[in-house]
Amino acid sequence: MDVSIVIPLFNEEESLPELCDWIVRVVTENKISYEIIMIDDGSRDNSWNVIEKLSAENRHIKGIKFQRNYGKSAALNEGFKAAQGEVVITMDADMQDSPDEIPELRRMIVEDGYDLVSGWKKVRYDNALSKNIPSKLFNWLARRVSGIKLHDFNCGLKAYRKKVVKSIEVYGEMHRNIPVLAKWSGFRKITEKVVIHRPRKYGVTKFGLDRFINGFLDLLTVTFVGRFSKRPMHFFGLYGTLFFLVGLGSILYLAISKFSDANFGLTNKPAFYIALTAMIIGMQLFLAGFVSELIARNSTERNNYLIEKKLGL
Ligand code: UDP
Ligand code: MG
Repeated sequence: MDVSIVIPLFNEEESLPELCDWIVRVVTENKISYEIIMIDDGSRDNSWNVIEKLSAENRHIKGIKFQRNYGKSAALNEGFKAAQGEVVITMDADMQDSPDEIPELRRMIVEDGYDLVSGWKKVRYDNALSKNIPSKLFNWLARRVSGIKLHDFNCGLKAYRKKVVKSIEVYGEMHRNIPVLAKWSGFRKITEKVVIHRPRKYGVTKFGLDRFINGFLDLLTVTFVGRFSKRPMHFFGLYGTLFFLVGLGSILYLAISKFSDANFGLTNKPAFYIALTAMIIGMQLFLAGFVSELIARNSTERNNYLIEKKLGL
C-alpha cells in the first residue's frame, strides 16, 4: 500500500463525504494505492454514521471511533498505529487542507528521501489577530528551541515515512510538536512544502487561543524530555551544583568577614540571604534530580533504542 491518509475529526459531518470524494479522485488519478483512516474523536454529531456509510461504499475507507473526545493527538496516535501505507499523510477533516497535495508530498518522501514533510500554510485563511500572529511567534520559538527549520509546526497536513509514525507516540497535545518528537527519535530529514490553505467550509474551529500557551509549554517539555529524560541528573545536578557553589561562596565570604571583624552584622548583608536562598535552591534541584533518576530507572522506555539496521544477527 502506497499511502495511508489519517484524518482526525471531531464534529465534522458535513465535510466528510466531499473530502473523501476529493481524496479518492486524486489518488486514483495518480494510481496511488491507499487507505483512508478516519478517527472519530468522540463526535456528538452524525460523523460516525457518515463514516459507516462511506466505508460501506468504499472498502479503502476505514474508521475508528473513540468513546469520548480525547483530542487530536490521541486521534492521530491511533491512526498511526493502524496505518499500513509506506507513506502516512495526515490531514484535517475540515477541508482546509487540499488533497491535491498528496502526490507531491508522497513523492518527496519516496523519491527525495525525506522522513517527514510538513505543510506550510504560507497564505492562511484564518482570523488574522487570533491565529496568525500568535502562530508566527510560536513557530519562531519552536524553531529556536528545537533547531528544526519549519515555518508551520502545527500544520495538520504532513507526510511521514511509515517508520516515523511507528516510532513516535503522540500524547497529550503533542500533535503540535510532532516534528520535534520525530527529531528526537533520530529522524533528521525533515523539510516543509508550501501548501494551499482554504477557508473552513463547514463547522467551526475546535481550538482557541490557549493552543499557543499549551503548545509552547509542550515544546519545552518535549525538548527537555528529549534531551534529559534518560539522564535527568545531568540537568538538575548541573544547576544544583551551580546554585550550591554560589551559596557556599557567599557563606565563606561571610564567615571570613565575621572572623576578621567582630562587629560584622550578618543578617543585614544581602550576601547572607543570597547564600541562604542559593543553597536551598541548590538542594532542591539535587533532590529533583535524584527523584527523576529513580523514575528514569524504572521507566519501561529507559532502553528503547530505535535500531536502524543490523548485520549478521
Ligand atoms: N480535532 C479532533 N479532536 C479535537 C479537536 C479537533 O480530532 O478534539 C480535529 C478537527 O476535527 C479537525 C482537526 O482536528 O479535523 C483540526 O481542527 P480545527 O480545524 O478545528 O483546527 P484549526 O484549523 O482551527 O487549527
Ligand atoms: Mg481547521
